[in-house]
Amino acid sequence: MASENYSLHGGVAVLTLNNPPVNAMGHAVRQELAANLDAAWSDPAVKAIVIIGAGKLFCGGADVKAFNTPASRAEPSSRTIVRRIEESAKPVIAAIHGSALGLGLEFAMGCHYRIAQRGAKLGLPEVKLGLLPGGGGTQRLPRLAGVEAAVRMIIEGDPASADEALGMGLVDEVAAGELLPAALAFAGRVAQRSDHPVASQRQAPAPADPKFFETQRARIAAGKRGLPAPLECLACIEAAVTLPFDEGMKFERERFDVLVNGTESKALRHLFLAERAAAKIAGLPTDTPATEVRKVGVIGAGTMGGGIAMSFASAGIEVVLLETKPEALDRGLATIRKNYAGTVAKGKLAQEEADRRVARIRPTLEMADLAGADLVIEAVFEDMGVKKELFGKLDALCKKGAVLATNTSRLDVNEIAASTSRPASVIGLHFFSPANVMRLVEVVRGRETSPEVIATSMTVVRKIGKLPVLVGVCDGFVGNRMVAQYAREAEFLLEEGATPQQVDGALKKFGLAMGRFAMSDLAGLDISWSSRKRQAATRPAHLRYSRVADRLCELGRFGQKTGAGFYKYEAGSRTPVPDPLVDEIIEQCAKEAGITRRAVSDGEIVERCIYALVNEGAKVLEEGIAQRSSDIDLIYVNGYGFPAWRGGPMFYADTVGLAQVYERIREFHRQHGEFWTPAPLLKRLVEEGKSFKDFVPE
Ligand code: NAD
Repeated sequence: MASENYSLHGGVAVLTLNNPPVNAMGHAVRQELAANLDAAWSDPAVKAIVIIGAGKLFCGGADVKAFNTPASRAEPSSRTIVRRIEESAKPVIAAIHGSALGLGLEFAMGCHYRIAQRGAKLGLPEVKLGLLPGGGGTQRLPRLAGVEAAVRMIIEGDPASADEALGMGLVDEVAAGELLPAALAFAGRVAQRSDHPVASQRQAPAPADPKFFETQRARIAAGKRGLPAPLECLACIEAAVTLPFDEGMKFERERFDVLVNGTESKALRHLFLAERAAAKIAGLPTDTPATEVRKVGVIGAGTMGGGIAMSFASAGIEVVLLETKPEALDRGLATIRKNYAGTVAKGKLAQEEADRRVARIRPTLEMADLAGADLVIEAVFEDMGVKKELFGKLDALCKKGAVLATNTSRLDVNEIAASTSRPASVIGLHFFSPANVMRLVEVVRGRETSPEVIATSMTVVRKIGKLPVLVGVCDGFVGNRMVAQYAREAEFLLEEGATPQQVDGALKKFGLAMGRFAMSDLAGLDISWSSRKRQAATRPAHLRYSRVADRLCELGRFGQKTGAGFYKYEAGSRTPVPDPLVDEIIEQCAKEAGITRRAVSDGEIVERCIYALVNEGAKVLEEGIAQRSSDIDLIYVNGYGFPAWRGGPMFYADTVGLAQVYERIREFHRQHGEFWTPAPLLKRLVEEGKSFKDFVPE
């Protein structure tokens, strides 16, 4: 029985994939499609069949939530449907607009013909989820478009435009105008033919270079840190060239099953779903109105302000950039121009576009120029007095309804808000350095921040292509609060017997983009030194405190910018070189603290540093500073170089098993005292046999 998504246009049956928002090919969609195909096949009036997507796209792929569940393979599977299409005497045409991604494209490749609307995007992004296209994509794409195109689309996960797809043989026609009429006309033409092309019956052309697969394997092994998915993708593409179709399909299925059950893919899928979950805010209805941000004021053209201004200008939003002194403004603008010029030089941006972006940033020394801004972001020195005075002035000046944001790394957003008469309009927008590059923004909700201001902030951050994650107010918010625990353990490990290079080496082997000490040298040791000096008077005397970093700073070693920090640097080089002087300082500090140095294993380094994050993460979660454990994972992966294939610190702890993590934390508590007090939430979850992912705040 045909459904409402079946219609007849002359002799052409049009079947619509209709499963908002992305027409994912879940089980119900496949059942309906199979039934509609049966109806079309059995109706003698139907001469050709067009399959098209409802709404904005053809099909966004499989249902990511259904991976590893029986529903993903339940009959009719997409393989079964495609097999029947290939046997059909009536031509089946996939008509693609918007995008055809993953299983959506694999399915389209199983149709006899493909017509794509200009502007459509065709892609197999499974590798980005640690998978391979398991619906025949690795076997059909090389047959349709050749191995080079397959490598690009399957291993790199790069989509092809409709015109590129035409050039590579992946589609048969590009429709410049409306898709359905073009598809109907195309169907009318091919209906006359007696037989129709079937991808699986073609021979995949062998690559011209006999060493092609060998070279690719070496390239991937070197570039993708030995992650399994890209190599498995390559093996499948090679199978498409060397094996008969059915055997290639069997091979693809086996390799897919290995990947889908592996930790890497589970971690990457976790992060994929985490990004969607992060957009949902408890107590904030999805229809909360967001103000459109047309003009942004940025205060301070230093490291952060410059990058923030670029992020908005690059997204087409007008920026007014305020500084106190002409020199500072000139310096800031020069850096912005240099950054854009760098992108132009790399061939990633046209000169004219770079010029348009720079022109969107209007420099000023007059605060009054901020009056018309819909959003003002303050990025001045990290000093509460300076910020409060500034917010007082903004309060007097800015238009009603403007969002007043601070980029503070750790100051109390509530206190800043209290210096205005409109605390409901104040919020933290914590960008990460370099702000024009880093995707993460912690959106810090103050006690009185209004739902509209939160909605506006989340929306505008997404609009500039970044990832907003909502957090609450506490010292350091989520990321910096947790990283302080990790940094402390790394320093303690030095005194206990490790070297900076050993600690960094172990953390990099675990997968972090940078080690703790190389990272500090890059960021600069002076900022945390001055905050430690401020806190010295109130630091509890009974708590252990490592003096190593203070000693380095006393010697003027502020990291890369001074040529030395935890490492030394040759002039003009960013490569950290171990420094015997640092070892001496460490030994001296250990002696003064009465610590007998011992051999520290790499395993202990990883556990001490990473479990310190996990234990603090549990506290952050329990206090409601983060909405869910997956938000913490997003923050760590996108802001702190935590390896995506491990899913973030909380997911990693779940994978290790919370009982085991808790046991180690209790052991560290016995050995090292109060810093390791286990988070009550961790204890509770272990007792209940649960994981962080099961935690739902009350
Ligand atoms: P910076 O010293 O590089 O820049 C601050 C700029 O603000 C200077 O150019 C200064 O002239 C200007 N300024 C000071 N008072 C001003 C005023 N009243 N009006 C206009 N301009 C004024 O500092 P930064 O590293 O860009 O940090 C800025 C803020 O961002 C701080 O709150 C910091 O904690 C936060 N932050 C920094 C980083 C980082 O990695 N650097 C990361 C996240 C957040």
